[in-house]
Amino acid sequence: MQSSVTLDGLTFVPYLTSEEIAAQVKRVASEIREDLKDGSPIFLCVLTGAFMFGADLVREVGINDAPITFVRYSSYSGLSSTGEVKQLMGLKEDISGRDVVIIEDIVDTGLTASMMVEDLKKRNPSSIRFATLLYKPESSKTGFKPDYVAFSIPPKFIIGYGLDLDGKGRNLKDIYVIRDQKN
Ligand code: 5GP
Repeated sequence: MQSSVTLDGLTFVPYLTSEEIAAQVKRVASEIREDLKDGSPIFLCVLTGAFMFGADLVREVGINDAPITFVRYSSYSGLSSTGEVKQLMGLKEDISGRDVVIIEDIVDTGLTASMMVEDLKKRNPSSIRFATLLYKPESSKTGFKPDYVAFSIPPKFIIGYGLDLDGKGRNLKDIYVIRDQKN
């Protein structure tokens, strides 16, 4: 792990190591496997931030006949939510009668998550579950609660393991938190 990462003039310091992430991904995967072993799951990985978590999670869950697909939503610009959620890329697969597992990188205000779940309900899935790598309960503006959480964290801006600062830092294997963020 690097002792710090600087992007766009901001310094980020170590927060979660790849080993800690892998252990929690394994735990969440076993919860999902247990809940869905008799179901008909389809995984919806939310781009772009969840691509790394999604790749690791579906390999750990290990349900070979479950389709994996991608959706893309966006609400962020720089360090804070714009408060407006835009759907950028929709879902083409038929999810009716299926047990949908949404895979997201982070639930912050909960706006993206609740909008996504409402949108997907219209397509008659048999169930919808929400798995997130990170959850900031103190930032919630919606009361949305994910079904599976790898880490609950304080409301600080983080990068790495798929999460970015304006497109940068997604490649990092570990997760870093911004140093001295003034809220
Ligand atoms: P929400 O709709 O819950 O406010 O925000 C969800 C989206 O905001 C996430 O999918 C993610 O793209 C972005 N986001 C929220 N908090 C952070 C953060 O700490 N770091 C990064 N890189 N993105 C974040």
